[in-house]
Amino acid sequence: MQDKNILLIGAGFSGAVIGRELAEAGHRVRVVDVRPHIAGNCYSERDPETQVMVHVYGPHIFHTDDVEVWDYVNRFATFRPYKNRVKTTAQGKVFSLPVNLHTINQYFDKTMRPDEARAFIAEKGDSTIADPQTFEEQALRFVGRDLYEAFFKGYTMKQWGCDPSALPASILKRLPVRFNYDDNYFAHNFQGMPENGYTDLVAAILDHPNITLDLETKITREDVAEYDHVFNSGPIDAWFDHALGRLAYRTLDFRKFTYDGDYQGCAVMNYGDVDVPWTRITEHKHFSPWESHEGSVLYEEHSRACGPDDIPYYPVRMVEEKKMLADYVAHARRAERMTFVGRLGTYRYLDMDVTIREALDTARLYLDSIKLDAAMPVFVKDPLA
Ligand SMILES: Cc1cc2nc3c(=O)[nH]c(=O)nc-3n(C[C@H](O)[C@H](O)[C@H](O)COP(=O)(O)OP(=O)(O)OC[C@H]3O[C@@H](n4cnc5c(N)ncnc54)[C@H](O)[C@@H]3O)c2cc1C
Repeated sequence: MQDKNILLIGAGFSGAVIGRELAEAGHRVRVVDVRPHIAGNCYSERDPETQVMVHVYGPHIFHTDDVEVWDYVNRFATFRPYKNRVKTTAQGKVFSLPVNLHTINQYFDKTMRPDEARAFIAEKGDSTIADPQTFEEQALRFVGRDLYEAFFKGYTMKQWGCDPSALPASILKRLPVRFNYDDNYFAHNFQGMPENGYTDLVAAILDHPNITLDLETKITREDVAEYDHVFNSGPIDAWFDHALGRLAYRTLDFRKFTYDGDYQGCAVMNYGDVDVPWTRITEHKHFSPWESHEGSVLYEEHSRACGPDDIPYYPVRMVEEKKMLADYVAHARRAERMTFVGRLGTYRYLDMDVTIREALDTARLYLDSIKLDAAMPVFVKDPLA
């Protein structure tokens, strides 16, 4: 098999993992990122003043049920056990999240056992809502007005910049409440934090003699002719110069501040009240509980609509955006020797483990396509699904 000349646009998990797999198969791989660093939005760095490992684009916790993905990341970094235990400040008190038996008992000042709490919450739910259409109706039906207003309404309004009555019911698929004292935010079997941060992990993935890396380099449609194949993890609308419009994203502003000591006693504190302008405060040193730091670095997180010069974080994916996305997908399907991947290339929210799973599958499909002399699809995952 003749080696191929491959370009990876983006040095996040998508670009790094696909690049590594193809480099190991003997191909020449160039990974390029417009930013001055690797690891995309998972980039972490030590704060020079306190030495705290900071998750620069917001808190990242690795969690998965995918054994192959877990083995893959553990091949490139030492992972330390880490469980995300989130708290929320709402209506003048601090509660445990996700809403669990502790939260319910504390909120209603009761000492209910699981069965009692289940019956109590069922009673609180608004049974007159037979066919919930909106996030608000779904939440009111599931948990009733008290818990909805304390734990769902304000946070959702701030996060998405709209009233929960304007969001589809599908966002809240299941009853968002646990009737036990389990406050482990994620339900996955494997959870942890890379001991030396995500940047080191991605650097180790990229560390292969067949990979060259160029940072602070923006790739456009004029730059790709020389490659046998391009994997593009940049924004699909930007690739086409937003010719069909701008896909809506939420962006985040972080107000960074430092503190001498322990500011909030946990890694993530949400703020459920709508009159508090931030959604949450992250205290980064608590993501590395095996380290000890006197100083502390905190991020107060504010969510707003993403402008042309902002970093896109969360795809909005409402009815209008999905229509525009369908147009971009139809347009992109005509591309040759290019596959759109990752969260920006397919305009989907993807956790890291899903990103890595899709990257591994994409690389394998490409290697098979070479062997079989078959066409490589423009999308391995349908962005509209
Ligand atoms: C606030 C926040 C918190 C998150 N928390 C978690 C979490 O706790 N756990 C979890 O599993 N996941 C989390 N995620 C998801 C995680 O960030 C993604 O899974 C991951 O970043 C996706 O990797 P990617 O390579 O697809 O995209 P990215 O990391 O965005 O990488 C794409 C890269 O492409 C580059 N690029 C774009 N266009 C061009 C161009 N034209 N030329 C050159 N380079 C270009 C960009 O600069 C970027 O670095 C979180 C996401 C956010 C927004």
